[in-house]
Amino acid sequence: MSETIFSKIIRKEIPASIVYEDDLVLAFRDVNPQAPTHILIIPKKPIPKLEEASEGDRNLLGHLLLTVKKVAAEAKLSQGYRVVINNGEQGGQTVDHLHVHLLGDRSMAWPPG
Ligand code: C5P
Repeated sequence: MSETIFSKIIRKEIPASIVYEDDLVLAFRDVNPQAPTHILIIPKKPIPKLEEASEGDRNLLGHLLLTVKKVAAEAKLSQGYRVVINNGEQGGQTVDHLHVHLLGDRSMAWPPG
């Protein structure tokens, strides 16, 4: 199990702009937003990356993705949005605690950089 800055956010040891929380997941605004709305949704369980999730995390991962949908609805992203998981170095992951990026309120390009 890894200890990252997100573990400190979960424990409220450092501040974050939290928009949703329950027993399993936390959602907070990214400190360096890449879109007008940029929210990170994370499991409280410190899974370092998607690659390291297991069969036992099936329900948690389902809950994580359904939370993304709930947070997007609460953020009123009715025109659409992008959901991103960076995995590992080439995937652009910089924090080793699984997190889902929810980006919205602007048009997105494809392919991503
Ligand atoms: O996918 P990646 O690992 O690159 O994303 C990490 C994200 O965590 C970045 O978008 C960064 O701005 C965000 N972050 C944050 N609050 C922190 C540290 C990092 O929102 N205290």
